[in-house]
Amino acid sequence: MTIPVYTIGYGARSIEEFLAALAAHRIDFLLDVRTAPYSRYKPEFSKAALEQALRAAGVRYVFLGDALGGRPDDADCYTDGRVDYEKVAQKPFYQAGIERLQRAFAQQQRVALMCSEGKPESCHRSALIGRTLADLDIPVMHIDENGRLKTQVEVCGGEAKATIPPEPPADLAAVQAELDALAEMEMAFNADMEALWDAGDWSDPASSAPDVAPPSAPWHHLEADLDGARHLLKKVFGYDSFRPLQEEIIANILAGRDTLAIMPTGSGKSLCYQLPALLFPGLTVVVSPLISLMQDQVAQLQQVGAPAAFLNSSLDFTSRRETMAWVRQGRLKLLYMAPETLLRPETLLMLEEAEVSAFTIDEAHCISAWGHDFRPEYRRLLEVRERLPDAVCVAVTATATTRVQEDIGQILGFRESDTYLASFDRPNLFLAARPRRDGLRQVLAFLEEHADESGIIYCATRRAVEQLAAQLQANGYNALPYHAGMDSATRRRHQQQFSRDDVPIMVATIAFGMGIDKSNVRFILHYNLPKNIESYYQQIGRAGRDGLPADCLLLWSRQDIVRVQRFMDEGAEAERAGRQARLQAMVRFAQTPGCRRPPLLGYFGEEYTGDTCDFCDNCTLEAGEQELVDVTVAAQKFLSCVKRTGERFGASYIVKVLCGARTKRILRLGHDRLSTYDIGNEYSRDQWKALAQQFLIQGLVEQDMQYGGLRLTAAASDVFRGEKVRVPATHAAPAAATTTPRRDAGEYDHSLFQELRTLRKALADEADVPAYIIFSDQTLIDMARRFPRTPQEMLAVHGVGEVKLERYGDAFIDRIAAYCQENDVSPPAAPAAPTQPRPATDGEKRRYQEVGEQFAAGHTVEALAQIYDVKQRTIFGHLHRYVSNGGAVDPERILAASALAAPEQARVLAAFDEHGPEYLRPVYDALNETVAWEELHLLRLLYLTRGA
Ligand code: ADP
Repeated sequence: MTIPVYTIGYGARSIEEFLAALAAHRIDFLLDVRTAPYSRYKPEFSKAALEQALRAAGVRYVFLGDALGGRPDDADCYTDGRVDYEKVAQKPFYQAGIERLQRAFAQQQRVALMCSEGKPESCHRSALIGRTLADLDIPVMHIDENGRLKTQVEVCGGEAKATIPPEPPADLAAVQAELDALAEMEMAFNADMEALWDAGDWSDPASSAPDVAPPSAPWHHLEADLDGARHLLKKVFGYDSFRPLQEEIIANILAGRDTLAIMPTGSGKSLCYQLPALLFPGLTVVVSPLISLMQDQVAQLQQVGAPAAFLNSSLDFTSRRETMAWVRQGRLKLLYMAPETLLRPETLLMLEEAEVSAFTIDEAHCISAWGHDFRPEYRRLLEVRERLPDAVCVAVTATATTRVQEDIGQILGFRESDTYLASFDRPNLFLAARPRRDGLRQVLAFLEEHADESGIIYCATRRAVEQLAAQLQANGYNALPYHAGMDSATRRRHQQQFSRDDVPIMVATIAFGMGIDKSNVRFILHYNLPKNIESYYQQIGRAGRDGLPADCLLLWSRQDIVRVQRFMDEGAEAERAGRQARLQAMVRFAQTPGCRRPPLLGYFGEEYTGDTCDFCDNCTLEAGEQELVDVTVAAQKFLSCVKRTGERFGASYIVKVLCGARTKRILRLGHDRLSTYDIGNEYSRDQWKALAQQFLIQGLVEQDMQYGGLRLTAAASDVFRGEKVRVPATHAAPAAATTTPRRDAGEYDHSLFQELRTLRKALADEADVPAYIIFSDQTLIDMARRFPRTPQEMLAVHGVGEVKLERYGDAFIDRIAAYCQENDVSPPAAPAAPTQPRPATDGEKRRYQEVGEQFAAGHTVEALAQIYDVKQRTIFGHLHRYVSNGGAVDPERILAASALAAPEQARVLAAFDEHGPEYLRPVYDALNETVAWEELHLLRLLYLTRGA
């Protein structure tokens, strides 16, 4: 194909848009044919600024205006005061300029002529230069103000035009109007950004550079069929089986049929299009409305080694251009985009040139005006779908109302047989509601049962948020407020602290939650009655995305109903009755005496098939009221432990001592040497906490209202003397009993789980991602159950695929081994693995040894990262392990590899002395974040090698 000469004018484009348009057409040289290389109104297009921006974008800039500019200095070029292009075209300087273009064309360089006017038909680049080039049989393509390509004939017609009116003289009024228009555009842009922030779009600008898939990526050479999908499910994502409907949906997509999947949050919708994306030959485009969600998804995909990236307004120009280049080079399998980005001309052009196999619309309910999130730009996705006729279209949503479901299917024109509707039941959510009496006390009691867990407390008003957050802080809880009245920077910070597990509890209005993909939210507490079941369901939906049990408690009062009633009057009159009915349904749900699932699911048109769910307060209460059981021995153990630890600690600490946790605090205080340490294994921790609540209610202990510590009461001495203690059976089923009303995660080593969490947090901080992106809670629990010792055993763990094994496997295997050794724990003899574990043979060299030996032999970290096709961080991980296992590295080589001056190195080593080499984060913090992670990794090797 012949490469034409392109032309482009910036017009109303911003510099970023202009550069993006150049990138879309892969322009290498920009030839400036403005008469003068300056712009009074757009300084970013003045020569120096433009040249710099182009250089950063890898485009060469050449000013050709003195040869090809439309208004030359030469007085001979004018007729009656107007530029005469016929005359200009005869001038030697002009012909010299054209010759340069001819040479560029002969060499098939990708060049574009550039001037200020956005429309090619109003500019000398087509009227003068374009015409000359056409006469020379050089094809010209004009990039118009919308990013579309136009030919010379389309712009100027077939005939040459003798004299073209010159550009209008600068007139002050026109200049002013242009300035005003620019200011207005800028304001509109800012307002849009504000709206995005308010909608919860608070992500930081970040590069989404993907890890390039290794040449042996497991999806290469696989058939795009269900067998291939099953294979990748384990190899890439580390899961053994599909969840309900996933298999059917994936099969339908792979068969090339447009598919609508309606599944509740956390049920695994994303996997339904991600697996086919890895199997399809081309690119899968995913449209998603929230930047933070798309970043999260891309981070998770990159962690499993899938080549995914995003394009949205948070990217700087270079990253955007880089991502577009990856698309053109076919290096990506998944590209996430906000609808606004997708609809931009240069994006559409890029996609038309790329091979797009699937077009996925996430949060598809945004297309329906009946939904709570209607977005007009979603309607325009239909046009995009038409432009990509070969791509299979997949729409997914968690929207539960029938009306919206039908609307989506209709608008997108999907067949009913290609629509998959999953049950909206979330069986892992424990549902409870009770009247709010002493709200604060109820919240504190609830939190006591959820120590160390992460959750959200929803309040109806900003004031209630502020007040409750302050009260919780005063009670020693690490909680932060969040509502729309706070400035956006603070909101963003709080949200990030929550996402990253730095702060476990968020007290918030409903402004919080959109775009939260955190998988380990363990509870949702409603401090007030939500205004309808849709909102309630959406909010509790944020809990337990990892599939582990999560607690949802709703506190409500008469005042809440009155408050919601007041808002009823404010909306449109015609919809009032509907609003009223929805509130009444919510109230009925709160007050229902029976199982909570039938009214909840019934509201969304789904019939609950079981009689009772056994996982809501009413179901478990009915069972519990029938029977009281004797827990005297447990009470004695508990009370004795309260006494021996000095009557200073809250229930969750006491439970940890009883269950033999090895936390730093317990070890520091020597509580692991108490006779009550580790004597409570007949109950799980959750059951102990429930028992503690009962002991409080029965007055055997009392709680200090300021610090939360438990003290014994006079009634406690009776228990020591043998007085019986009885509690409802639901609070006392021993850990192994099958009658336990709470579905917990099964048996696992809780202390090991805590240690693995700490390790995960340290790794996450180093990688600057939220902890759940490294491994989910469920994965860590599975490790704390199986105690994997070899890479093969690690691969059998839920959620460990090959890439995560490579990145983190060794760190976790080492920590588990160390835990077993320190605590004299013997791991279960035959780990329950679906695949047969293959013990590592002596002859088989572990990757870390190989890497360590190569480093010792003189390879640099950079070179090793290239050889193994992994990040440098992974190499450092191997080296750390190598040195920790007695491998030797020449200290001089490490010193030579470090970029720090000797005094700086000494400072780092001193920090290791003080904080220990186990984790880098404390050292990084102690050095005030002034030393790069790579240096810390390197100097830690030195520290360990010297045996300091
Ligand atoms: P949704 O998009 O429906 O809210 P996600 O796709 O984010 O849900 O999935 C929720 C969690 O479940 C994720 O951590 C995901 O990796 C996990 N998951 C998805 N499919 C499976 C499966 N077949 N087995 C185990 N876990 C799965």
